[in-house]
Amino acid sequence: MIHRHCSFCDASESDANPLIAGNAVYICKNCVISAYKIMFGDEAQNPEHKELIDAVDILMTPKELNNFLGDYIIGQERARKLLSVAVYNHYKRIFKTKNITDDETEIAKSNVLLIGPTGSGKTLMAQTIARVLNVPIAISDATSLTEAGYVGEDVENILTKLLQAADGDIERAQQGIVFIDEVDKVSRMSENRSITRDVSGEGVQQALLKIIEGAQVNIPPKGGRKHPNQEFTTIDTTGILFICGGAFDGLEEILKRKQGENILGFGHEKKSKDERKPTYDMVEPEDLISYGLIPELVGRLPIIASLSEITEEDMVRILTEPKNSLIKQYKKLFSIDEVELNFEEDALLAIAKKAIKRKTGARGLRAILEENMIDIMYELPEYSGYEVLITKEVIQNGEKPVYIKKSKQKTA
Ligand code: ADP
Repeated sequence: MIHRHCSFCDASESDANPLIAGNAVYICKNCVISAYKIMFGDEAQNPEHKELIDAVDILMTPKELNNFLGDYIIGQERARKLLSVAVYNHYKRIFKTKNITDDETEIAKSNVLLIGPTGSGKTLMAQTIARVLNVPIAISDATSLTEAGYVGEDVENILTKLLQAADGDIERAQQGIVFIDEVDKVSRMSENRSITRDVSGEGVQQALLKIIEGAQVNIPPKGGRKHPNQEFTTIDTTGILFICGGAFDGLEEILKRKQGENILGFGHEKKSKDERKPTYDMVEPEDLISYGLIPELVGRLPIIASLSEITEEDMVRILTEPKNSLIKQYKKLFSIDEVELNFEEDALLAIAKKAIKRKTGARGLRAILEENMIDIMYELPEYSGYEVLITKEVIQNGEKPVYIKKSKQKTA
């Protein structure tokens, strides 16, 4: 079955969110409703329209979310699944419990921690989920943050960024997503902290905790440092989904040590089971505390999902399969000059091998392709009507690609 997508927000067609087809375009139910709200403003708040407005709260199911993620993210199945469920629960909590009066059972926030090597898709996952939900997203790096009073960015600025991503719409910002990368670098034991400022990782964690746990936070709407005579905007962070990411280098050692202790604990019983190489799938909150995250922060990140290192095979898939894969983008760029771009399988493999060597995960792919395509693109307009075939030698030795003149297709 062909997967059809909304031309506005890219959501997949589903029973909950059907599409209306136009002339080679589609619009989904959610976008129709959003458009209605934009066009009719206050009028749309009229109780007569309640049924329609309530429909905005349609939630995509975890499966639909995961399918959407799968269009863009290769592998990482377990992490995709965990994130889909966390996101579903989060938005269910903020949209669907609004009218429930039973105040006794408060559903806790399902903020997420993504653990995985650099370039394995952590940021991409957060960005993709924000895109499918059509919510604003702010991406920050924990290493640039500091406690108030030190040189660096105040933690509140993350929320300013989110407000800006929501075009100043506070309500939209309050339902957005904040992605904080490199949280492992502000662990208490981290050696990677900046030496230029005397700020403890713990201080930054405490500051992060304040916004993550759900609070009314005063932010300077235009960013910058806080100062006394400034006007503030108050943001309620209760409905904001926080996704933290980090590579957590060295965590393996902690897992190994724990495994060793378990074996001893069982009086040197057969080691067979615990001799497995520890993987980040096994990470438990206590391991993160041993790593140097403060227990309160770990407690606020109840969903821990691990992403694995990108393999050679996955690199090739990342080049070709995602909906906006690099190769698809280049093909499109070439087709504008009426040049057909093709890659030999071996060429793709050579790119993957080079990327593995760079140790920056899939992030290296773009740079490698750029380096190899620049000379070809320089001459591209002269090859209108040709097929350009990229061979292994182009990637490995910088040789010229094969140019094949295409025969003009006869019109019927
Ligand atoms: P990090 O894990 O360091 O946050 P990113 O998500 O920023 O990594 O990945 C960098 C780039 O590499 C992405 O923009 C994307 O193009 C590519 N990439 C990384 N992992 C994947 C993946 N699993 N599937 C598809 N593309 C990926």
